[in-house]
Amino acid sequence: MIGRALLALLALLAVSAHAAPPVSVPVRAVQVAAHTWLVHGMAGEISRTNEGFNSNAAFVVTGDGVVVFDALGSPPLGAALVAAIRAVTPQPIRRVIVSHFHADHFYGLQALQDAGAQVWAHAAARDYLASDAPQLRLAERRRSLAPWVDRDTRIVAPDLWLDGDVAFEMGNLHFQVMHVGPAHTAEDLALVVVEDDAILVGDLMFAGRIPFVGEADSKAWLLAIETLGNSHPKVMIGGHGAASFDAAADLELTRDYLLYLRRTMGEAADAMVSFDQAYARTDWSRFAHLPAFEGANRRNAYNTYLLMEREGLER
Ligand SMILES: [Zn+2]
Repeated sequence: MIGRALLALLALLAVSAHAAPPVSVPVRAVQVAAHTWLVHGMAGEISRTNEGFNSNAAFVVTGDGVVVFDALGSPPLGAALVAAIRAVTPQPIRRVIVSHFHADHFYGLQALQDAGAQVWAHAAARDYLASDAPQLRLAERRRSLAPWVDRDTRIVAPDLWLDGDVAFEMGNLHFQVMHVGPAHTAEDLALVVVEDDAILVGDLMFAGRIPFVGEADSKAWLLAIETLGNSHPKVMIGGHGAASFDAAADLELTRDYLLYLRRTMGEAADAMVSFDQAYARTDWSRFAHLPAFEGANRRNAYNTYLLMEREGLER
């Protein structure tokens, strides 16, 4: 009897001690301004090869704590982000701001919360988080990103929902959180680090790869790109790709791609050409060599085709 109880206890302990393995990809911070550091994800879409590390996170070391922007795409990546911060500073990690709720940017939140960070996000994501979609996406990632996304990976709800723009000060540095959605998503947030003349923009900028369009409002996204380009920051960090020291130039690929999708798919929708036909007859050679083209382009084009149909009906 005792033996059986002991076995049951050991089995229970084994379950509770279960943890996703650490990532083996290098998750390191590179300084891009006096207080701002970039953790630069690998190019292309998520895969087992990059262990889900395809997106950027950034953090700002103030005189009194650390502010983090985005949390990477799995709990082990979130833990690696915490370790990368710890390699730079022993200061407490006080806050993490979520640019938007795409899986590659927020599945690391539970590691940051465990490290003491308070999670901030924009309230426009509330409906999405309350829907079935995040659980469906999580189920898909438990398959495609096993063992790093597993049954212990959970959707972390923010500690604070923001309704609009917010300014705050920490350790003598000044921050502005700006709601720049709806663009890439309804809830897009950007973070300005005033003293560094730096702006972190999440997926409003995809540097050097094909953007993920998803359910984006590309018309509003293009307007947001124009505003960001005109703000001429010293450094801009997007959700994917290298830090930009020439924002207007580095936003150009995202802008050019969105304009091209809207023009080609818009003309097809107007002429009532079927999507398959329109896709086949469109010349994609300008973009076909770029990372993520294979995985993302057809879906991006299809979503834009549907969007242009809807916009056509509204005209
Ligand atoms: Zn995204």
